[in-house]
Amino acid sequence: MDHEPVRATDPAVADALEAEVDRQRDTLAMIASENHVSRAVMSAQGSALTNKYAEGYPGERYYAGCEQADVVEELAIERAKQLWGAEHVNVQPHSGTQANMGVYLAMLDPGDRILSLELTHGGHLSHGHPANFTGQVYDVEQYQVDPETGYVDYEGLADTAAEFDPDMIVSGYSAYPREVEWERIQEVADTVDAYHLSDIAHITGLVAAGVHPSPVGISDFVTGSTHKTIRAGRGGIVMCDEEYADAVDNAVFPGAQGGPAMHSVAGKAVGFREALEPEFVDYAEQVVENARALAESFRERGLTLVSGGTDTHLVLADLRDSHPDLTGGTAEEHLADADIVLNANTVPGETRSPFDPSGIRAGTAALTTRGMGESAVREVGDLIADVVDAAAEERTDTVVPEVRARIDDLTDEYPLYDGGGGTVFE
Ligand SMILES: *Cc1c(COP(=O)(O)O)cnc(C)c1O
Repeated sequence: MDHEPVRATDPAVADALEAEVDRQRDTLAMIASENHVSRAVMSAQGSALTNKYAEGYPGERYYAGCEQADVVEELAIERAKQLWGAEHVNVQPHSGTQANMGVYLAMLDPGDRILSLELTHGGHLSHGHPANFTGQVYDVEQYQVDPETGYVDYEGLADTAAEFDPDMIVSGYSAYPREVEWERIQEVADTVDAYHLSDIAHITGLVAAGVHPSPVGISDFVTGSTHKTIRAGRGGIVMCDEEYADAVDNAVFPGAQGGPAMHSVAGKAVGFREALEPEFVDYAEQVVENARALAESFRERGLTLVSGGTDTHLVLADLRDSHPDLTGGTAEEHLADADIVLNANTVPGETRSPFDPSGIRAGTAALTTRGMGESAVREVGDLIADVVDAAAEERTDTVVPEVRARIDDLTDEYPLYDGGGGTVFE
């Protein structure tokens, strides 16, 4: 990775940047929201467009000199339309949260009612948590997953909607391993005359590749992050029908943001271009196959999975049955020692603190980018179970170094950013 210009002027930051590349090479990134972008996406993100103010939209900017900004943003929009089939796309949100902010600001007034999934059941902070602006500006009620099945409680959602009469229903989640039935939620939204926002932040890539049903054309608004399964670098996106285009565009800028991060928009354009290649469908299918393999290995080792398995890129293990005295946080720590980086996560019916919850969440998007298939991922699942068992039995002193040595071999076998080429696959 070329950090030479940084090294010449700022060795402290260059050291950290290089150490971060090494960290990503030498560990398994299993935080379900993470992935590794190509060198091409990184190069676009590190481009001179970071210097350019391009307030406004292509063809109607507030400042001169936006010719190339227009080219890049139009390409990002066109490619997004091809990937997801939306009528209108805004690629300027700085992140998924800003994309959601754009939709709320476009359609709601302060005090309006939002119905969304509880955070501990898989929802997101930007869906109405009190620590987020959404919980402070809007009146929020929440629905849940069925405690028995781990699937969204669609009937409970309909009942709560009938009572609460929301102005907007939010679907799409952060820690939900199953396919979302967008139509069912849309029917509820129709019944109570609410807008429907589907936040596909985690599954943008799976939806683009057709391996998860798409809410585009069903829900009024679809938002996403661009750095998760779609692998297009950090940022956000809003999609909607033409009738809401002006409202959304005005809400994103000038409503919620100033100038767009045009270097990030360039990263999105390049990442979307990569995702239009037929290989991306293979990638997305493999991500899901790998998650199923991971779920299988966890089940074989006696771990309880929320919803019993997965249809997506992630699995969520509830440790309370199998390892009643082990918290997710302790498991996360020992796994990090073994060079497996995932996160402790709340589970439905959480009985511990969100700071040290009862579950662990693991995703396969980044491992699949490195080229791993089911057999490698199944082995990783076993290694995770080895560490979890050892953590519960206080045997980590011997087990963690063994697992770390095996991860060292695996990360060599599936290299990342090696070879000096243009993509992560070399
Ligand atoms: C990741 C995520 C977001 C956006 O997060 P940012 O960090 O702001 O990009 C929004 N919604 C859901 C459901 C997410 O999982």
